[in-house]
Amino acid sequence: MNPTDIRKMVVGDLWTNSTAYENTEYVVDHFGNRFMGTESERKAKDHILGLFRAYGLENPREEPYRYTGWKRGPCKVEMTSPVQREIWAFAHPHSGSTPPGGIEAEVIDLGKGAQQDFEAHAGRIKGKIVLASTGWHPGQSYFLGHRVGKHGWTSDAGGVGLMIRNETPGGLIETGTIATGYRNTGEIPVVGLSFETGALIERQLKKGPVNVRIDMQNEVSPGTLGWNVVGEITGTKHPDRVVLVGAHFDGHDIGQEAASDDLLGAMVVLDVARALARFKGAFKRTMRFVAFGNEECLTVGSTNYVAQHENEIGNLDMMINGDGLGRWPNPFFCVNNPPELVGPLSRLVGEWKIDAAVGVSDTRNPAWCTSTDNHPFTMKGIPTMVISGRGRASALGTAGRGAAVRDHTICDTMDKIDKFVVKQYAILLAELLVALAQRDEPLIRHSSKEEVLDAVRKYGYIDALKAQRRWHPDSTLGIR
Ligand SMILES: [Zn+2]
Repeated sequence: MNPTDIRKMVVGDLWTNSTAYENTEYVVDHFGNRFMGTESERKAKDHILGLFRAYGLENPREEPYRYTGWKRGPCKVEMTSPVQREIWAFAHPHSGSTPPGGIEAEVIDLGKGAQQDFEAHAGRIKGKIVLASTGWHPGQSYFLGHRVGKHGWTSDAGGVGLMIRNETPGGLIETGTIATGYRNTGEIPVVGLSFETGALIERQLKKGPVNVRIDMQNEVSPGTLGWNVVGEITGTKHPDRVVLVGAHFDGHDIGQEAASDDLLGAMVVLDVARALARFKGAFKRTMRFVAFGNEECLTVGSTNYVAQHENEIGNLDMMINGDGLGRWPNPFFCVNNPPELVGPLSRLVGEWKIDAAVGVSDTRNPAWCTSTDNHPFTMKGIPTMVISGRGRASALGTAGRGAAVRDHTICDTMDKIDKFVVKQYAILLAELLVALAQRDEPLIRHSSKEEVLDAVRKYGYIDALKAQRRWHPDSTLGIR
């Protein structure tokens, strides 16, 4: 069967099924949020491996790895002066603990808490608890205000704690790891606050000094076991040339579901694999589908994947990250690296009349998004892109997350998922894969290590990577 007919059959299949949605619901309802190191994560992994088998993928397997895990313990935060008030707060994953009885310190408000805010207040941070928002400055890359950097800058300046306040009103706390979980652990206690709690503290700070006590005990778990789940459709003409598409199946634990970030993406990838697997033997290049473990703490599964497959890095044509598949409207093929990939990708999308926008980035979709699973592949010079939605940029006027951009909050739940949007993304991904798998040449060559490091320099990310404890120019992956 020719690729055009295969495409029509696959699109018809995906349009007349809600398998990705139903599988997401099943996993959420039966296993929960799949947070790192939990029974929920292990059960979801087993279930996903079963689906890979049931859908007829070749070489279905789990690929285990070990990393430094973290367990949430009790967390109590209170304002002790000028007024006494208990504060609703969650520890950020990988947050350090306080001594028993907690720490009490004066609060310093650094606004957005991006790199320049720490520089502007250097010398005033030592011994204090920093209050920063989830944001970054207008026009600036998201990466320069990333929470992992806020943690590093606070710790480097001698701050004793960090409170990250949601920029979006609505009473929700935004969570997220503050360490590179595969190798490092957090250095200081870090908690998330709602916009409204931040406003309360800000209001008191206008009148005079504010003191806060943080008392929390978390547990570091070295040697925690995690898994990537993998399946393939082998190419007939170039079996050793691989287009890899992956999305992470783990989620954050502050909600019960973590439905759309990014279980939904992983289930879209699986559904596309299911639809394409019916045409095994009709594709020139190999397609490899990966459900990554523990992206949330920070790209642990994908980093280990790249480290475990170093000897076949040269065979990967491209890595497509599905962290965002089906999550927001307005699908966007966002090129990560190299930026020159936009040209050939746009031509391919044009030839095949695939209805998705192609581009490099805006401040919400930075070309160098280092906090999701394409990052370790990018650092090894593999061409990378993310499929996500532009709806996110217009959904909120702020840099925080709320009911509209709900991932990393307790309201990332099934009821927010739009079945029509999910099908749209599944179809676009399938169309792209059919087009890529028919090619005799990759779209673009790999970047050299020097080119990758030059790009990091050009984007001004070296200081931020240092603050994130992730600047390892010798190994680029950060795993030795
Ligand atoms: Zn995610």
